[in-house]
This record gives sequence, C-alpha cells and structure tokens, in this order.
Amino acid sequence: MNNSKQLNYLSCYSPEVQQQARTLLDANKAGAWLLRKYPQAHELGSEKALYEYAQGIKNQYMRSSSPISKVVYDDKIHVINNALGLHTYVSRVQGKKLKAKNEIRVSSLFRRVPEPLLRMILVHELAHLREKEHGKAFYKLCCHMEPDYHQLEFDLRLYLCHRDRFGELWE
Ligand SMILES: [Zn+2]
Repeated sequence: MNNSKQLNYLSCYSPEVQQQARTLLDANKAGAWLLRKYPQAHELGSEKALYEYAQGIKNQYMRSSSPISKVVYDDKIHVINNALGLHTYVSRVQGKKLKAKNEIRVSSLFRRVPEPLLRMILVHELAHLREKEHGKAFYKLCCHMEPDYHQLEFDLRLYLCHRDRFGELWE
C-alpha cells in the first residue's frame, strides 16, 4: 500500500497537518508517540461490556434519544475514509407491527485500541442517533459528550495509517 493511500484516513485535514503526519509515519515514530499517550488497550472485549459502556455514555448525555438495542463488534466493517463505525436503523416487520431498532456496529479492529479511542467511535455513532449528517450540530454534540473529540479522532486516524504500514500497536 502506498503512502498517499495510507493518508486517506487523514484526507480531511489541512496539508500542513498531513505533512506532519507523513513525517512521523515515514520515520516510524507515530507508533511510539501513540503508545506513550495511550499505553493500554481497553478491556471492553465482550459485547456485553461494550453495550454497557455505550449505554453509560448515552444515559449521561443523550438520555432522551431513542434507545439503542445493540452494540456489537463487526468484522465485516472495513475501515476506510470516514466509515469508522456504523450506525444502522433497522426496521423489521414482526407480526403486524413495524419494529425499528437502533444498532451500533463497531469494526472488530477496535477491540484492541485504548479506551479513549473506542470512546470516540461510540460518541460518534451515538451522535448519529440525533444528527444524521456530519454537520456543525453533529460535531457540537460529539464535543459535548467528549470535549477532546477532535484530537481523539485525529489520533485514531493516525493509528489507522500506522497500522496499515507497521501493524497493530496494542495486543
Ligand atoms: Zn458518521
């Protein structure tokens, strides 16, 4: 995979920021930087723990939004560009009723990342319960739930670039 392709994860940032990231990645220094900042992977490997963690954030900040029925890891989600997770609104006919359910799917690769980065993904997907588009209101809600949201998203995207070239950081 070539360098420009790896920087796809960072294509939404300014050329200056992309250049800084490229310099770190070319020197293989991004990994060490990320490990210093985030020494450990989270311990939310089970889907029960994942669901409860997401539900905890929702209860604190988005109590009035429609409930989430499921939060799962999904190994079929390929992380490219902006698709870090997936929020689906599933409608099914059950008997004579139309049942709608909110499900959050998180790419399986986030089983082995530090808690702050997983939290950023969940905050993002939870915000979609209220805001479908990635507009101003959407990011305002993300930052309300996680004040460090933008930095965490950058760090996560930097990790994805690192991972493509050098492999996983947290076991
Ligand atoms: Zn989104």
